[in-house]
Amino acid sequence: MGAPATPEESARAVAEGFTRLYGSAPEGLWAAPGRVNLIGEYTDFNDGFVMPLALPHTAVAAVSRRTDGRLRVHSADSAEGVVTLDAAGLRPEDGAGRVHGWAAYPAGVVWALREAGHHAVTGGADVHLASTVPTGAGLSSSAALEIVVALALNDLHGLGLTRPELARIGQRAENAFVGVPCGVMDQTASACAAEGHLLHLDTRDLSLRQVPFDLAAQGLALLAVDTRVKHALGDGAYAERRAGCEAGARALGVRALRDVGYARLPEALDRLEDPTVRAYVRHVVSDNERVRRTMALLDAGDARAVGPVLTEGHVSLRDDLRVSAPELDLVVEAANAAGALGARMTGGGFGGSAVVLVESGDAEAVTKAVEDAFAAAGHTAPRVFPAIPSAGARRVS
Ligand code: ADP
Ligand code: MG
Repeated sequence: MGAPATPEESARAVAEGFTRLYGSAPEGLWAAPGRVNLIGEYTDFNDGFVMPLALPHTAVAAVSRRTDGRLRVHSADSAEGVVTLDAAGLRPEDGAGRVHGWAAYPAGVVWALREAGHHAVTGGADVHLASTVPTGAGLSSSAALEIVVALALNDLHGLGLTRPELARIGQRAENAFVGVPCGVMDQTASACAAEGHLLHLDTRDLSLRQVPFDLAAQGLALLAVDTRVKHALGDGAYAERRAGCEAGARALGVRALRDVGYARLPEALDRLEDPTVRAYVRHVVSDNERVRRTMALLDAGDARAVGPVLTEGHVSLRDDLRVSAPELDLVVEAANAAGALGARMTGGGFGGSAVVLVESGDAEAVTKAVEDAFAAAGHTAPRVFPAIPSAGARRVS
């Protein structure tokens, strides 16, 4: 798969689309990326650690302010036409202000900004956007959408919010307005990532560290594999895993599973009676440890040794948390058999995407091995592309 259009390349078409729809040129254009998570999965609602990177795939939005209270949103990627809303009347509860469909994402951002006291946004806005982030592939097209709108409104109204604050606004929009109980990782990656870096995020105090991740210099590459499947099973699973982890923390008398140090894991597991809760705790505590090990390996300049840590993480997600899918297991198995250094599912699981660490020279053979394995199993052809650590959200013009 070729590289996606850059925001600069998309900008012209998005600006022209805006002008055609709304009759005048936009005040500006903004871009925000999707992400993959290298390591640290289902840790973000346990006050734990995650290590995502932003992708070259981005949502690009053309935006102008309005003063009549109307919020108009349009996506080049949706069959729905222009959706017109009342910016001051948006409500997450069922009723007149409730928004359905994709427009809930941008509307949720306006609502969350208003709720945070930024009343300037009730003047309304015109938004037209297009995205190269595949949707529903576990690559956070939703966060890209939220952050591009949040950043545009922040800039246009001079709200002065920091990047982490914009991530919080995006998360609030998704949790409370769209109704998806996600952590803050996706939005933080989209808002705060830096080119050539991983983002190490402590989801308790929200402290960030930019970790240099120049794989090419070490003769390595990271591949993302979109399996093109999403299993319905995933729908209630997130809430169930979350509840199980909270039950584990309660039983162990800690605020969150983050507070169970890896050294105390065996002792903690002994104290848990429910085998399901025990397995969830083992995953979360060991995945936090895998983030720590990954960071130490990268600090020591040994990215190659991260490979087995990824595969270990996959086994834990597959066997302890049980959020993998046959297609994800097949990516990991086929890639590793073809000489990959390691691989794991990334994101919420039950389909979606995987990441694979390879020697640069093996990228093609590993890609082909995964494609062949999918063909042999009768699965839809996966999309494989290089996960190049890219810039976070920015103004394009
Ligand atoms: P992911 O974030 O992993 O891609 P989600 O289910 O969280 O998957 O978000 C996907 C949803 O986000 C889509 O169903 C759609 O409502 C919205 N979305 C994402 N990108 C776009 C886009 N370019 N145009 C319209 N809606 C989009
Ligand atoms: Mg999402």
